[in-house]
Amino acid sequence: MASDGKGNLRELRNFVGGEFVASGSTFENVTPVDGTLISLVHEADRAIVDRAVDAARDAYYGAWGKLTTEQRCNLLYAVADGIEARFDEFVDAECADTGKPKSLASHLDIPRGAANFRIFADLIKSVGTEAYMQETPDGRGAVNYSVRQPHGVVGVISPWNLPLLLSTWKLAPAMASGNAVILKPSEETPTTATLLAEVMKSVGVPDGAFNVVHGFGPDSAGEFITTHEGIHAVTFTGETATGREIMKAASANIKALSFELGGKNPAIIFADADFDAAIDGTARSVFANTGQVCLSSERVYVERPVYERFVDTLKQRGEAMVIGRPEDSATQMGPLISREHREKVSSYYALAAELGAETVTGGGIPAFGDERDAGAYIEPTIFAGLGEDTRVQKEEIFGPVCHIAPFDDEDEAVAMANDTEYGLASVVWTTDLSRGHRVSQAMEAGINWVNCWFLRDLRTPFGGMGLSGIGREGGQHALNFYSEQKNICVKL
Ligand code: NAD
Repeated sequence: MASDGKGNLRELRNFVGGEFVASGSTFENVTPVDGTLISLVHEADRAIVDRAVDAARDAYYGAWGKLTTEQRCNLLYAVADGIEARFDEFVDAECADTGKPKSLASHLDIPRGAANFRIFADLIKSVGTEAYMQETPDGRGAVNYSVRQPHGVVGVISPWNLPLLLSTWKLAPAMASGNAVILKPSEETPTTATLLAEVMKSVGVPDGAFNVVHGFGPDSAGEFITTHEGIHAVTFTGETATGREIMKAASANIKALSFELGGKNPAIIFADADFDAAIDGTARSVFANTGQVCLSSERVYVERPVYERFVDTLKQRGEAMVIGRPEDSATQMGPLISREHREKVSSYYALAAELGAETVTGGGIPAFGDERDAGAYIEPTIFAGLGEDTRVQKEEIFGPVCHIAPFDDEDEAVAMANDTEYGLASVVWTTDLSRGHRVSQAMEAGINWVNCWFLRDLRTPFGGMGLSGIGREGGQHALNFYSEQKNICVKL
């Protein structure tokens, strides 16, 4: 990955109008596995973003926009095939950028990246319309019907935790709907976006329909997208604080916005739950992807009769996690995304200790005595004993960590779970069917699970309430966002 085989460091360029474009300045892409420099990334300046917008507009009014839905969908199927044809390369790239275990990237990230294109290509073909027969005083009547049209040029700004999975979750419905797109991947994970550009080119997606600009947020490619007059909609996944900045920037020309933001998600375990299933699900929801999943459970509430046993068993799970390099088949947990992010997560570990939390397990940085010590690893961690009003319980940490607390009855559990300004996801574990429905319906969150976690039917609405986002993606909901609906009234 690191070099071109001749010893030269790999360089990742922007992809604009079907060409790979260098820029005047590059930034370093360092792997969190062991701190090695793996590539140099060409940062798009304003002129490159302008070129990408021009190319996208030309594609939208030209070759891309003129395709039939079937032709467009056939290209999207070819993109999915193209990802799969280079599956190992995509897996290796995602693992090098993020440090995640190869088992995870090859079972989740890359297959979902390909599947997203197929799913939205299938869905767009079944989109219907709404129509109303209207009565008029002269008795002739009128027919009203609505049609959907793409926005034109859509900006896609994506995060680093599930880079290909989350960017294609937006790109696929945007392109299936007929938009031309400009993707800005996270500066931490630029590689699979660049590979995707190669796939788009190789399968014949018209030049300009898909563009990639690399860079950061403020005063860089991110901001150039959100302030650009030629971009009509912006879809963003990332931190709530970034969402606020994007909202301000996008207000100038009233762009359509879709936001998938942060979470501080509760999991509630009732004493009647299937204990082993609840432990398995909770351990996954706390530690998977090193806790860097927006849907992770950072607040765990357990009914008192099973509390001690649950804490002990979850502690054992945390302590048994095999931390290591992506390619090691035993690895269950990789590093955090970067040393910088590790500082943030560690600061919450320190804060919890300062506030007098009981550290059930973890709380530190592992020492390996090998090259991993130059990486960004952190210990799986469980805290207990903190009040609900502490920063540790209020703010998203985004690491392999939870706080665990007992509760005595259903009302108390619901009140604690809902005591947050976020509203992304919740999990309830119980064998009482009515309670499962009742409690999950009482949750103030967009995505609610009973007796499972991360089980996704991609047709369902996905998104958060409160500080967790605006709008819903997934299935028809995504297709709605990536198009404008207009009504036509015909007098008969
Ligand atoms: P981030 O907000 O730091 O960055 C996300 C993207 O926004 C990056 O591409 C970044 O370069 C860009 N960006 C930053 N500042 C910008 C600005 N001012 N203007 C335009 N673009 C800007 O988020 P992150 O650290 O990459 O990702 C982690 C966050 O994402 C967590 O909060 C997590 O909960 C959230 N997340 C949410 C979901 C969801 O579906 N709700 C999914 C995954 C991650």
